[in-house]
Amino acid sequence: MKVTLKNIGKKYESQEDFTLKNVNLEIDEKEFCVILGPSGCGKTTLLRMIAGLNSVTEGDLLFNEKRVNAVAPKDRDIAMVFQSYALYPHMTVFENMAFSLKLKKERKKIIEERVIEAAELLKIKKELYAKPAEISGGQRQRVALGRAMVKKPKVFLMDEPLSNLDAKLREHMRVELVKLHKTLGTTSIYVTHDQTEAMTMADKIILMNDGKIQQVGKPEEFYNKPKNIFVAQFIGSPTMNILEGSIKDGKFVGQDGIIQITPNDNDKRNLASYEGKDVSVGIRSERFESGGHIGDNFECTVEVVEMLGKEKILYSKLDDGTNLVISTPGHYHYEDGERHSFGFDINALHFFDTKTGQRIN
Ligand code: ATP
Repeated sequence: MKVTLKNIGKKYESQEDFTLKNVNLEIDEKEFCVILGPSGCGKTTLLRMIAGLNSVTEGDLLFNEKRVNAVAPKDRDIAMVFQSYALYPHMTVFENMAFSLKLKKERKKIIEERVIEAAELLKIKKELYAKPAEISGGQRQRVALGRAMVKKPKVFLMDEPLSNLDAKLREHMRVELVKLHKTLGTTSIYVTHDQTEAMTMADKIILMNDGKIQQVGKPEEFYNKPKNIFVAQFIGSPTMNILEGSIKDGKFVGQDGIIQITPNDNDKRNLASYEGKDVSVGIRSERFESGGHIGDNFECTVEVVEMLGKEKILYSKLDDGTNLVISTPGHYHYEDGERHSFGFDINALHFFDTKTGQRIN
């Protein structure tokens, strides 16, 4: 099922301002769409509106082409998986999974078939007669998914479903969820504040901040072509370095002149109308070059070296006090306090209008 939001706004009665404003969005049939953003940006509010658990203050919510603003949650053909799982502790796994179908007065045989089918897919068949307290966190998470699956919904809504799991299990379940999505092909809308979940699982990411959509697109687009400084710094770890400066004679010159960069021809064309204006340049930590392009090198002091195994992160400082985070291969040798020279990979720079924060291209 396709889900469309047209100029959706949400205002809670107890709040003075709109929590969400002018949200326009299309989630395609069979798509795995991740709504990403920092705490409080309105992700859950948006998801609950799609579920029918929150009212829509303004705009149109469409399932396929039908307006569903006033349709009750139970009539929306959706299933929701919550962060807390919300399993009934006194019921067995089987009973938990069967519950919604029983309410719908489905035939016993169909209930059994569907529960077993879901349990097989989720690998919890052996646990069907255990109570939630007797199984592991990961298994509980699967039961919550199974309970949603047996309804055979047209849309899955998931609100941070992995956040109660430890790091290893979370990594495992990310892959399992993607596989499950490929098997079932159900349109899925998944809320998280974890950029790794979004980058690894999504067909489409919707990044929100402060009740507004910042960018919609494929994971690579977020990494390679962030639309503004917020997106650039939200996606990617370590956080993208942003240096402020201006364009002088076609060159980027940092605030106090230590950094000078000659952009590549493409960036030069894009920056032509920015001569004399304030511009920020973004560079990801892995795009510095030890040595670098002649003329565009800079020296810095490596303050702290963090060894992560496959890479070393150098927390460094320019002489004017600007911090830079530089990643290098793990087998390179660096010590705290050393001075080193680096250059920029000029084909990996992101230029932003400092005033608006918007990408220049
Ligand atoms: P988190 O990741 O922390 O869950 P979120 O991005 O999901 O955050 P929401 O839970 O949608 O954000 O909250 C967005 C804003 O709406 C917050 O400022 C919150 O205080 C407000 N809000 C959420 N639910 C209600 C409510 N029931 N009544 C009033 N205000 C609410």
